[in-house]
Amino acid sequence: MKKIMPIGLMSIVVLGIVSYGAFFVKTAGASTEPNIQDPMLLEAWTRLYNHHDPVQLWDGSTLTGRDLAQYLMEQAIPVVWDTGHVCGNGSCSVHYCAEETCTYEDGKPGVDPILVYPTKAADMPSLVATLAHEIFHRTQPFGAVPATRFEEYWAFLIAAKISNAGWPKFGIYDPLDSGHLNLWIKENKLDPYFELPEYPATIVPQVQSAYMGSDQFNGIPAEAFGPSQTSPDETK
Ligand SMILES: [Zn+2]
Repeated sequence: MKKIMPIGLMSIVVLGIVSYGAFFVKTAGASTEPNIQDPMLLEAWTRLYNHHDPVQLWDGSTLTGRDLAQYLMEQAIPVVWDTGHVCGNGSCSVHYCAEETCTYEDGKPGVDPILVYPTKAADMPSLVATLAHEIFHRTQPFGAVPATRFEEYWAFLIAAKISNAGWPKFGIYDPLDSGHLNLWIKENKLDPYFELPEYPATIVPQVQSAYMGSDQFNGIPAEAFGPSQTSPDETK
């Protein structure tokens, strides 16, 4: 049997072998399967992956369930039941903050998991919502910063839209108005979130412009509102 390959095909084969090494390295960092062992949690991930309706975000960009599911997979973030009650009566990822810089990395080998409240097991829609909420946090949408009420608002909104949940209520609250943001927390009895700061630094300039555009303080420099406001040039 003669083995004669056209030179073109030959070079493709060689390229295939060469890129195999590169592919192997790449898959070590970007997983192609979700890092989830439990069948129920895997089912929730699959439902999230099959969600394609875009949810509009604060900056006009959009996000789908698939985007979140894919992020979880690519980052190889494990999802496990919180059997050790690390999160109390809820789901979470452990967030490590040194002053104003926060990560989801405990410093030990391996990606740290999303921990899911075991009583969610009875209810697939709320499991999907929980997964969406917690993955959104893991994307660090405002950078490596502490959690804020604004980030929680969006985590809840995205989760509710993706899972068609009737809770929390969103009404016509404008989360870029801090009065609205706080009323939203109050109305939905999410009071523990009052312990968080209101806004991430990158969003503060938009909050100011929304505020200043609507009343008699229009044109007054941000510094006049006191030290709690971050001026735009301090933000990253
Ligand atoms: Zn949250």
